Amino acid sequence: MLSSRLLKLENRDYPFEDKRKAQLVATLAGGFSLFGLILCPLILIMGAENAVLIFSLNLLNSAFYLIPVLLIRGGKSIRLAGNIFCHTLFVAFVINLFIFLGGEPTMTYPLLFVILFVLARFTLGKAWGYYFLALSVLTLVTALVLQVMDVQLTNMFGEVDPQDNLGADIVILTLSLLFLGFIVGQYEKNQSLLREDLTEENILNQNLLIQQKELNTRILNREADLIKAKEEAEQAAHAKSHFLSTMSHEIRTPMNAVIGMTGLLLEMPLTEEQREYVEIVRISSDNLLGIINDILDFSKIESGKLELEKHRFPTHTPVEDTLDLLVSKANEKGLDLIYSIDSEVPTHIDSDLTRLRQILVNLVNNAIKFTDEGEIVVYVRSKGQEGDEYHLEFEVKDTGIGIPPARLNRLFKSFSQVDESVTRKYGGTGLGLAISKRLAECLGGKIWVKSEEGKGSSFLFTILTKGDFRKLEEYDAGLDRIQPNTPLLIVDDNHTNLKVLEAQCRSWRLNPVVTDKPDEVIPLLREYPEIKLVITDLQMPGMSGIDLSKSIRETFGESRHSILVLSSLGYEWKEKARAYVNAYLTKPVKLLPLRRAVAGLLNTGPIRRPSDPVAEETNREELGTSIPLRVLLVEDNQVNQKVAMRILSKLGYNADIAANGLEAVEALKFAPYDLVFMDMQMPEMDGVAATIEIRKMEHLHHKRPVIIAMTANAMQEDRDRCIAAGMDDYLAKPIQKAKVGASIQKWFGERALAPK
Ligand code: ADP
Repeated sequence: MLSSRLLKLENRDYPFEDKRKAQLVATLAGGFSLFGLILCPLILIMGAENAVLIFSLNLLNSAFYLIPVLLIRGGKSIRLAGNIFCHTLFVAFVINLFIFLGGEPTMTYPLLFVILFVLARFTLGKAWGYYFLALSVLTLVTALVLQVMDVQLTNMFGEVDPQDNLGADIVILTLSLLFLGFIVGQYEKNQSLLREDLTEENILNQNLLIQQKELNTRILNREADLIKAKEEAEQAAHAKSHFLSTMSHEIRTPMNAVIGMTGLLLEMPLTEEQREYVEIVRISSDNLLGIINDILDFSKIESGKLELEKHRFPTHTPVEDTLDLLVSKANEKGLDLIYSIDSEVPTHIDSDLTRLRQILVNLVNNAIKFTDEGEIVVYVRSKGQEGDEYHLEFEVKDTGIGIPPARLNRLFKSFSQVDESVTRKYGGTGLGLAISKRLAECLGGKIWVKSEEGKGSSFLFTILTKGDFRKLEEYDAGLDRIQPNTPLLIVDDNHTNLKVLEAQCRSWRLNPVVTDKPDEVIPLLREYPEIKLVITDLQMPGMSGIDLSKSIRETFGESRHSILVLSSLGYEWKEKARAYVNAYLTKPVKLLPLRRAVAGLLNTGPIRRPSDPVAEETNREELGTSIPLRVLLVEDNQVNQKVAMRILSKLGYNADIAANGLEAVEALKFAPYDLVFMDMQMPEMDGVAATIEIRKMEHLHHKRPVIIAMTANAMQEDRDRCIAAGMDDYLAKPIQKAKVGASIQKWFGERALAPK
């Protein structure tokens, strides 16, 4: 340890074996040198004859010993170092023997030569070992011959007594050397056996090395191939997505003409038959546009061009938007649409509203498509936290036809449908789920499905998002003022809905009594006289909500209970119900309106007049009648298109769609629109550029359309940019019915037709 540190051997890159040899040589040489140096002053002190000569020789000897040490420290060849060391050692022995001791070997000499031999053998190899052995034997024999011949050499330490037992010395020395020869012979034999083993191992290692090299070259070649293939694939993907976007643009331009023209046609006086044909053209073109948008979306995701927009929004917004969009479809099939958000789910999340809604729209749309009776429920649950992010799970559960187990794994692949008969019966491109899968992955989650044939399916997906819990104060309407544990009664034949409503009321610290049988209501109200509010479904087997309300009024009088009716039907029944109920809410029941209605009714008690929701709904449809307008919606995102179209249709407008600025400009060449809702960020041409173009061609129709920007960027500078480009107004996304209605009122209010 110490010596190797002194010699700085740790950082030399000697092979392991050599390092040990180097250490041995250096340590011995160093030791001998030190010994010589210590001897020097002793020689002088003892004052022997020829002390100066002896001193000088000794010093010289010590200096020679230092050479191998220095060589090894310098990282030089250990053969050279060992050679110098062994020769120095040998010469020192010989000088000692012949000059200082007068050529009379003592018994220590064979021992010294043995040490020399072994040292040379190990550090320099076999040949050098025997070389030194031969030299040693020669020296000893010379010494003995000199003794036999009685030649007296110089004795620097004075006269040495002649040996008495000379013969014995010769015998002992010869035997020692023979014995040594024998030992070495044995050792050599073992060594060569060992070497054979080693050589076999070496060959194996060598082979391995060769194989490894071959493998490395193959890996390198493969890597180069892969890089090339990847580049080619990327180029191909790029070409594909470029092709798709050009193609879909090319298709969309004439499609817009078709849609614009059919819109114009529909405004003209037509026979019933003509109108029907034009309607079909219009619906089909809308569908075709939907499919093209799907393909474009898919290619965008595939080529990694999808950009997520993260901003904060209430968690219930994408769910409610989706259900809003699809509720009429569900109603047509008589399906219940329900949603439930667990109380552990943050009230607000940071995600991409549009994309999240797109997944939900795809799944709920499929659920409605493949379900003939029963219900579709959207659940939102929290599946734990990771740092400040939440794993949220969305489930869309239906009671539809289900999916055979063998087909489950193919569902999320592009262009795959369960089978061709499904395609024939239900239509579709088989892209919806593939897109949803990619989107869920983009949002930090995954998607999967559980299904039982004939019973229904559950599509589940997760997202990873930051979120927080905020008090929904703006909608609170005084829920805080209600005593905790205030009882209320909920009646619904749909068990899921009943469960969801019950959980909702419990989370508001109310104490709901629930029943799925309308005929149990009267006895229950008798049993719990403290109940002041009844929430009832409208359509129930056996007894409708209206009949139930009527019998409550007849039994308990007009003003003992507040009655809130939940319905998914149109308006016809409302006239009939007006006499018995206090408020209505349309299904799917939304969190905040329900909260508002419940709080309002519990706080103020029964008011015999239907509350706002009904009035609101009737007003909406009148706007389109009182202010008829040709509306163009410019929006690239399909889901946003649907949402906006839905809002506009609720306001009584049947808008045309352009998928980007270029198409909007084209569309305005064909038809004189009164109002344009313009998205800001779009491919091909954005909203600002399109507005500038549109403003340039106003002479075409001698009409100046009102252009209202719609954007997610709610910054003042964006607003300024819109106005500077020639837009008239600005709506922040997500757009809402009330805001759209208000801006139409603002810009076209004076055009309102007088009520008939
Ligand atoms: P499509 O546009 O054809 O609906 P999707 O990718 O959305 O494409 O769906 C692929 C296929 O998965 C559908 O054709 C249908 O066979 C099956 N599928 C999707 N959702 C459901 C569901 N809720 N119930 C039963 N089958 C479904």
